[in-house]
Amino acid sequence: MKKVAILIIQISLLSVSFCFSQSKDPVVESIVKEATEHSQLEKLAHELLDVIGPRLVGSPQMQQAHDWAVAKYKDWNISAKNEKWGEWRGWERGVSHIEMVSPRVKSLEGMQLAWSPGTGGKAVTADVIIVPDVADSIAFQKWLPTAKGKFVMISMNQPTGRPDYNWQEFATKESFDKMKKQRDAQTEAWTNRLRKTGHTTRTLPVALEKAGAAGIVMCYWSKGFGANKIFGAYTKKIPTIDISLEDYGLLYRLTESGHTPRISVRADAKETGVSGTFNTIGEIKGTEKPNEYVILSAHFDSWDGGTGATDNGTGTIVMMEAMRILKKVYPNPKRTILVGHWGSEEQGLNGSRAFVEDHPEIVQNIQAVFNQDNGTGRVINLSGQGFLNAYDYLGRWLVKVPETIKAPIELKFPGIPGGGGSDFASFVAAGAPAFSLSSLNWSYGTYTWHTNRDTYDKIVFDDVRSNAILTAILAYQASEDPVKTSREKSVLPLGAKGEPATWPEPRKPTRRGGLD
Ligand SMILES: [Zn+2]
Repeated sequence: MKKVAILIIQISLLSVSFCFSQSKDPVVESIVKEATEHSQLEKLAHELLDVIGPRLVGSPQMQQAHDWAVAKYKDWNISAKNEKWGEWRGWERGVSHIEMVSPRVKSLEGMQLAWSPGTGGKAVTADVIIVPDVADSIAFQKWLPTAKGKFVMISMNQPTGRPDYNWQEFATKESFDKMKKQRDAQTEAWTNRLRKTGHTTRTLPVALEKAGAAGIVMCYWSKGFGANKIFGAYTKKIPTIDISLEDYGLLYRLTESGHTPRISVRADAKETGVSGTFNTIGEIKGTEKPNEYVILSAHFDSWDGGTGATDNGTGTIVMMEAMRILKKVYPNPKRTILVGHWGSEEQGLNGSRAFVEDHPEIVQNIQAVFNQDNGTGRVINLSGQGFLNAYDYLGRWLVKVPETIKAPIELKFPGIPGGGGSDFASFVAAGAPAFSLSSLNWSYGTYTWHTNRDTYDKIVFDDVRSNAILTAILAYQASEDPVKTSREKSVLPLGAKGEPATWPEPRKPTRRGGLD
């Protein structure tokens, strides 16, 4: 009995010393303790994702989120403000009710796309047809009057509603190969069908709208069970709705077999005029070098099929939690620590590009930017983004990070400067050392990225907690470093055709969006 107890004490001592073997640093230990014992992540996620909801640029929820973040920072005694950088078309999503009323009755799973016109507070009921396979654009023009008063389906009917990983697991190799071959052929035929109309996926809905169609019906399957990607509508008067793979397939087969399904659609949406676009900026002022900056970065906006939980709710709460912890355990940093919650990343990194353009004095004096924006997973990749000496300072800062968090991170030095993808690229283009804390996949691309399934329940809080600890320690170390970071660029590798690669150029933000 006694022996066992001693053994347990020894093991627990061993694991404690293992965890902190790199550091007896009291700040690091306090960061880990605060993040572990007093985590606010669950509460932040609930308030942001469940109570406020998705954060489409120009929507009232986006503004609520900005105001909420400022209030949170005030609660934590961190000064914060919303900085206006542009304007966007204001639009508010209402309910979507989609029913099949003939040949039988069934509620359908679907919703209107962002910025879709509504149906004026009532249901529109009409037959469903499929965009036809015509010989050419002239034949399509002749066909167009047929679309009048109809809901027109413009997406291919998927041959299977099972993701490939499911086939991989259960199908015979022969039937999996056969399905893939059929799907490839069908996809090619569908691409040709659309091309022959003389329209693109962008202009086809507009042509159908002009011809008097009742609405556009589509299905942007994300290749996972239940997951569709929900982007923006191109129509100006009639609704554009996305329907689940299962229900889309049902309508499609009924149409093909001559059963002429009728659907009833009520889509509510409110145009709310011109809406300001903002970045929320929080600040913990530096004591020794207040004019040098460490920036925690994550875009705040989202698409609105789900609630933007992993894109980029998780990046957002990582940065908020890191700021909260830093303010508590490291309230007097050497350098100023800023947090940037950028608006309208999804339409082209607009908030961060505007910040870079509007604050050259800050950008010149950036010590480091840490951005997170690819899901809920633990950080496993960190690239030097082409900065020649990133290996030196990032390497030194990482020394203090607990082994369990640091060990899985694959470092790439000097790496290649990212030209896009998320907001770090806006800073890299301006020559400022900015880095992407890149996450483990967790089926991000299939299940949550821009989908109707990007919701609270997909968050893996232990991973997010690990990222908040990592971010807080990196910010602490970047702030403490006696040396200002080098911006020297590495010689970039040649491109695929042997051409010299060039550093990405800063790009202008869109400061007026959707307002033609
Ligand atoms: Zn994102």
